[in-house]
Amino acid sequence: MCHTFHPVLLYIYCMCGVVAMVTWLPRRVRRKLRGGSDWVSTLYYTLFYNYFTSLYVALEVMLEPLFWFVEKFAKYLGPVFVTLVVVMTTSVVTIFYVCLLPHVYTTSLPWTIFHLIFGHWLLVNIVFHYLMGVFSQPGTPPPQNVPEIVSVCKKCISPKPPRTHHCTICGKCILKMDHHCPWLNNCVGHNNHRYFFLFCVYMWMGTIYVSWVGHDLFRQHFYGDEPTAFPPLFYPLNAIHDAIYRSNDPAKPMSIIINPNPPPKENYIEHYYHIAVLYEFILCSGVTLALGLLMLWHARLISKGETSIEVHINNTQRKKYKKKNLVYRNPYDYGLKKNWMVFLGFHSCRTFICKVLLPSTHPPEGDGLIWSRASYKFKQDKGLQLL
Ligand SMILES: [Zn+2]
Ligand SMILES: [Zn+2]
Repeated sequence: MCHTFHPVLLYIYCMCGVVAMVTWLPRRVRRKLRGGSDWVSTLYYTLFYNYFTSLYVALEVMLEPLFWFVEKFAKYLGPVFVTLVVVMTTSVVTIFYVCLLPHVYTTSLPWTIFHLIFGHWLLVNIVFHYLMGVFSQPGTPPPQNVPEIVSVCKKCISPKPPRTHHCTICGKCILKMDHHCPWLNNCVGHNNHRYFFLFCVYMWMGTIYVSWVGHDLFRQHFYGDEPTAFPPLFYPLNAIHDAIYRSNDPAKPMSIIINPNPPPKENYIEHYYHIAVLYEFILCSGVTLALGLLMLWHARLISKGETSIEVHINNTQRKKYKKKNLVYRNPYDYGLKKNWMVFLGFHSCRTFICKVLLPSTHPPEGDGLIWSRASYKFKQDKGLQLL
């Protein structure tokens, strides 16, 4: 490292010096400023006078404030996201009972019984898997006696078993870490990966179901005579609705973003009923799309025996091997069927009903510390084959 005076560095030092010398600043602030100047000088020397500097190092240093922000504020955002999930789910379920179920009841009794059974089965599974995902521990490696060590965590200074990664938000190592989920305010790892995925599946099925049941009522309210006034969350849709309606029929009264003629008091219930039906359908159909994509992504990873972190590691390895004319195979890919059986924690299809279709607290397969590697054999005509 070369300590020569560079004009840019000199300018930074002068600026820091001027600020630090301002006597009215409290000592604590001056100390912080000095810390900031040290950080800038370290960054400068690291980037420009470092023999080992590479693009990766530069990016890591540049992204340090972003990591700091995530570490500092992600844990505070978690409770907000969890509250959002609880409030939205409760509102959808309440509207379903108050608005949609009486509407279904007018069609036929057998249909109503089907809806009561199917709807409650979904609701029980959604609530169960969400609570388990939030409150169960993802699993951490013990400080000692780790049977297989692949590296040492730089943050915890403790041995890391295979597939274990450090979560900067939780501040600890997580067994078979997938990701830190803000919607659960918890890490998704070895012990609660199944709860997270099944929550996504049941929630997705629930939103499809509610959209399907509410579709008829939504159409009546959307294309009905009453001017469409979307709930505040969806205000931009009012403008879109206006644009469509006014272009078709200029004589039609404009449905407003902020209604200048509020309904008379006796019609308030109808007005809120109208808003509730629109809110229910738009929220559920929107979530169906977003959650469906997330679920498909995770289903694809599970089918290949990967986690959200391992997919990046494996892709990097694959490219490295390819440059050397070699083929890389994920060591934890046991084949489609076995990957799903290991993930869901059942040994035969007979236990599918008890362990997947009904709420179950059965533990995942293995302890998350030891992972067997998939074995392959090479065949001249077929290439690498899973044993
Ligand atoms: Zn760690
Ligand atoms: Zn975490």
